[in-house]
Amino acid sequence: MAASGPSSAEALDLLPTGIVLADASGRVVRRNAAADALVDSWEDGVLGRRIVERLAEAVRPGAAPSREQVRTPGGHPRVYEVAVRPVTGPGPVGVADPPVTGAVAVVDDVTERVRIEAVRRDFVANVSHELKTPVGAISLLAEALEDERDPEVVERLTGRIGTEARRVSDLVEDLLDLRAIEEGGVSGPGLVDLVEVAGEVVERVEPMAQRHGVAVVADLPAAAPVTGVRTQLLSLVRNLVENGVKYSDVGGTVRLGVSVDDGSARVAVADDGMGIPARDLDRVFERFYRVDRARTRDTGGSGLGLSIVRNVVHGHGGTVRIDSREGEGTTVHVSLPIGSPR
Ligand code: ATP
Ligand code: MG
Repeated sequence: MAASGPSSAEALDLLPTGIVLADASGRVVRRNAAADALVDSWEDGVLGRRIVERLAEAVRPGAAPSREQVRTPGGHPRVYEVAVRPVTGPGPVGVADPPVTGAVAVVDDVTERVRIEAVRRDFVANVSHELKTPVGAISLLAEALEDERDPEVVERLTGRIGTEARRVSDLVEDLLDLRAIEEGGVSGPGLVDLVEVAGEVVERVEPMAQRHGVAVVADLPAAAPVTGVRTQLLSLVRNLVENGVKYSDVGGTVRLGVSVDDGSARVAVADDGMGIPARDLDRVFERFYRVDRARTRDTGGSGLGLSIVRNVVHGHGGTVRIDSREGEGTTVHVSLPIGSPR
């Protein structure tokens, strides 16, 4: 066999993980390329200094392996995981503690993982909170129903149980939508006609619009093809039209317009409902954000609709803008590029 394979240093440089080796005195003797890329400065950077310190500690007698997260300060803080362990040599036969011959540090940038974990924790807390209210209400209403003999009251209580149950199922549906969208959708992108999508939305929202006493009027061209994921685009338009209906008074009108001009397809959903106060406009796209819980309580929203809208729009390379005046109405403008898949 020819001994012309890669050297251990070359092999270490190919690893995506930072590796730093120290000798028996705790002095750094080798770093791979990933470690150098992660560390700003080995002398006065927070991360570099911590690694050097931990390696020096790890070669002391009786030192144990350590693992910690190091946060770098500054405008764009990052989080690194640093795991350090002593390395022991073979040592003389019969001696219980083999001698420490050095130490190794393994360094990973875990910023993204830490961020996702935090989002997920918040998300679970929010979801549990959102589910608790209607589920608690259902069990109270059911209890009240048990001893109730007056048919009128029974009817009212059953009606309210139905409303609360719908809230739960709406929330679950939103969550499933959101998950499918975050995972990039179940089906891949294809050519989708927004006019056909708008038609389906109008049909699906009609029963809800009738319940609210709101008219939905569509103004559609012959066709508006975009490259995208149909289920996501359906969810986008449905959420906007549903908002228009939910946040309007009896007798209101929601207008759904689709148009095509050079390079983009536009969807505009306009209502003459309660509008959104200027101070909340920036925040309505956040998950679980509702303008005023008291005002939206009976509409039973979970505050996920517009975050789904924003995710879908961005996933399709488009833009979304809200114009709204409190007490006058709201218009949401979405613009999607024609024929540019992402
Ligand atoms: P979900 O859509 O998940 O059922 P939701 O409608 O409360 O619940 P979003 O669609 O994300 O959640 O909307 C966030 C908030 O923005 C709403 O609670 C409401 O206060 C406000 N909002 C959204 N659209 C309108 C609109 N057309 N008119 C007035 N307020 C609106
Ligand atoms: Mg909504």
